[in-house]
Amino acid sequence: IWNNCLSKLENEISSSEFNTWIRPLQAIENEGQLKLLAPNRFVMDWVKERFFVKIEELTNEFSNNTLDLVFEIGSTAPSLPTYTKTVKRSEAKKVGPSFLNKMYTFDNFVEGKSNELAKAASSQVSENMGRAYNPLLIYGSSGLGKTHLMHAIGNAILAKKPSVNIVYVHSEKFVQDMVKALQQNTINVFKEYYRNLDVLLIDDIQFFASKERSQEEFFHTFNTLLEKKHQVVLTSDKYPKEIANLAERLKSRFSSGLPVTIEPPDMETRAAILMKKAAIVNVDLHQDVALFIAKRIPSNVRDLEGALRRVIANAQFTGREITIDFTKEALHDLISMRDKLVDINNIQKTVAEYYKIRIADLSSKSRRQAITRPRQVAMSLARELTSLSYPDIGDAFGGRDHTTVISACNRVKELKESDVKVSEDYFNLLRTLSH
Ligand code: ADP
Ligand code: MG
Repeated sequence: IWNNCLSKLENEISSSEFNTWIRPLQAIENEGQLKLLAPNRFVMDWVKERFFVKIEELTNEFSNNTLDLVFEIGSTAPSLPTYTKTVKRSEAKKVGPSFLNKMYTFDNFVEGKSNELAKAASSQVSENMGRAYNPLLIYGSSGLGKTHLMHAIGNAILAKKPSVNIVYVHSEKFVQDMVKALQQNTINVFKEYYRNLDVLLIDDIQFFASKERSQEEFFHTFNTLLEKKHQVVLTSDKYPKEIANLAERLKSRFSSGLPVTIEPPDMETRAAILMKKAAIVNVDLHQDVALFIAKRIPSNVRDLEGALRRVIANAQFTGREITIDFTKEALHDLISMRDKLVDINNIQKTVAEYYKIRIADLSSKSRRQAITRPRQVAMSLARELTSLSYPDIGDAFGGRDHTTVISACNRVKELKESDVKVSEDYFNLLRTLSH
C-alpha cells in the first residue's frame, strides 16, 4: 500500500518536496496499521504538517479505510535489544547499527559563543578518539544542541573510519534494554555488547537518577571502556554533581574527563541557525526575517525550529513570500506577547542616541535630513518591533499622520536595499533593541 501511495505522491508533489520529505520515510504495514518512520523529528513534524491529510486520503483509498496511519521517529533497522547471539570482535567487525542521525553533523551545526567550546571539544574527540578527552561530557539545558553534537561526533568518526563500532543510545533506552536483558537472562550478552564498543555515545545521563541497578551496570561498562581507552561521550541536562539520586562515584566519574557546557545561543547565533535550517530545506530566508524570529523566540533552538517550520509551511501552503509581515502573521500567537515588551520610548531613545540627536528631534517638525532619516528609521523599527498600528506610531512621533508613517516605512525599506549605511544602521539598531 505504501508503494502505491508513493507513486501517487510522486506525481502530485514537486520532486524536491518528494525527495526531501517523503523519500526518507520508511513504512511498516501490519495489523491494520501503517506506521511511517521518519529519520528525525524535523522530517516527522514537517510531513505531518504538510502531507498528513494527503497521505491519509491515499491510504484510505488503497486500503478501503482499513489502515490506521501512525507516525514515529525511527528506522526499520533491527532494533538494539536483540541480544540473541554473542558478538565477538574477532568474529564480526561491526556490532550492529550505530543509531546515528545523519542530519546531525558538524557542518549543520552553527557555532557561536554559547557553544564554541562544546563544539571544539567534540571535534577534538572525533579526531582523537579516546585520546583527547575521555569521557567528554556535554551538559546544558534542553534544546541547545547536545544531542546534535553527540551525533556529529559519531558521524565524523564513521565518515573517516566506517569500521569503528559506535553506538548512540539514550540513557532511558539503556535502562529499558538492561531491564529486558535481566528478565530474559541475557544480561551477559548485554554487557558484552556495550563493553566491546569503540565509542559509546550515551545521551541524557540524568535519566540514571534513582535507577540504582542501571547505575551499577553502567558504571562497570563505563569503567571497562575507559580502561581500554575507548571513547565515551555523555550528555546531561545538569552538571553531574547537581543530579539528585545519582551515586557519588558516578558523579565524580562522569566529570572526570572534560565537562563542557553549552549555553543558550545569542541572537545572532539564533538567526544564523535559522538561516542554516532554512538552507537545509532549500528555503532562502532573509537575514531580517531570521533576526525577527530569533528576537522573538529566545528560549531554545528546538522552539526556534518549530517556529521556522511553521513559517515555511505557511509560506509554501499559501505561495507567499517570507517577509517580516508574513512571519508576523504566521507566528502571531507566539510573538504578540513579546512584542509589547519593546516599547516605543525605548526605540526613540536608542535611535536618538545612535544618531546623536535629541529624542525631542524625532517628534519635532524639523525637515533636515540629519533628523528625518533617524525619524524614518525609528518609525520603521517601531513598526517592526511593536504591535502598534500606523496611527499609533504617528501619534508617538509628534502627532503625525498615519500616511507619513507608511511612507517612512516604505522609504526605509527601499534604502535598506540601496544604501549600505542605512541597512547597517538599521541592522545595528535592530540588534541593540532586541537584546
Ligand atoms: P538537546 O539535546 O541539547 O536537548 P538537540 O541536540 O536535540 O538539543 O537540539 C535541538 C534542535 O536544535 C536540533 O534539531 C538541533 O539540530 C538544533 N540545534 C541546536 N543547536 C544548534 C546549532 N548550534 N546549530 C544548528 N542546529 C542546532
Ligand atoms: Mg538531547
